[in-house]
Amino acid sequence: MTTTIGIIGAGQMGAGIAQTVAQNGMKVLLSDIDLAAAEKGKGRIEKALARLVGREKIAAADAEAALARIEPVADLSPMAAAAFIIEAATERAEIKQGIFEAAGKVLNADAIMASNTSSIPITRMANWSPDPTRFIGLHFFNPVPVMGLIEVIPGLATSADTLARTRAFGTSLGKEVVEVQDAPGFVVNRILVPMLNEAVFVLGEGTASIEDIDKGCRLGLNHPMGPLELADFVGLDTCLEIVKVLHETTGDSKYRPAPLLVKYVEAGWLGRKTGKGFYDYSGETPVPTR
Ligand code: NAD
Repeated sequence: MTTTIGIIGAGQMGAGIAQTVAQNGMKVLLSDIDLAAAEKGKGRIEKALARLVGREKIAAADAEAALARIEPVADLSPMAAAAFIIEAATERAEIKQGIFEAAGKVLNADAIMASNTSSIPITRMANWSPDPTRFIGLHFFNPVPVMGLIEVIPGLATSADTLARTRAFGTSLGKEVVEVQDAPGFVVNRILVPMLNEAVFVLGEGTASIEDIDKGCRLGLNHPMGPLELADFVGLDTCLEIVKVLHETTGDSKYRPAPLLVKYVEAGWLGRKTGKGFYDYSGETPVPTR
């Protein structure tokens, strides 16, 4: 029988996870705040698959079959059939709490509830689900179909069976899995996000221009993207939420958010997803906004 995976949140990560799951032969139930938002997520996947077909990375028939396995849903009730429910909604604890409480009402007795959170403690969220032994962190990287890594994060109560089944699920998607303890920012974001935040401090202090900060890190560190273009790619609201969680959970002032990052988020300049962040994406090539 085909495995069914429920995905809650059809933004850049939820859509990427849905595409990857569907391309690996599983059925996806995709939800968001309403059916229109879930359908928009599927539309994004359709475009991504068409680009892969255009570049001859996958066959048109495979793209069509993957798309047919993704069903946008208006509410969570069909997810009673899911082996995993993966939450990939906005990085705000109160939003995730509401989702886990609602999804907990339909979660199959054998199913696993997972969160793609970038930073919110897994052990805290597990308590918002009906069975913390079947709750786990499943942290994908952006863009999901391209990035080869998944961090799997057991909470304090996560069972060995849940951990083993989640690792196997990650591997079945063709990803490498690393197991990480439930600590602020896990591993990759604990190291990455302070660097992105620091780049915004450097910009705010007038040390160099947006373009030169990015060029400096691309060429001087041999990174494929500069920190400000990467922050735009991640989403500045997501970066800010992660750095706030690092700050709050550790109490360490080294993680305080850069004031200019707060300002960009308050302006609604959230990066690529809103068309403007440290760069303006409305034209042919991105133009720095400062
Ligand atoms: P996004 O803003 O692109 O998408 C978030 C989606 O959640 C939106 O479609 C929104 O409508 C939906 N949503 C909000 N409230 C909801 C609710 N109550 N029920 C259902 N859906 C709801 O954000 P994103 O970048 O996809 O991030 C989603 C999650 O993935 C966050 O927890 C984030 O920290 C994590 N994450 C992000 C990245 C990244 O690079 N952007 C990487 C790894 C993990």
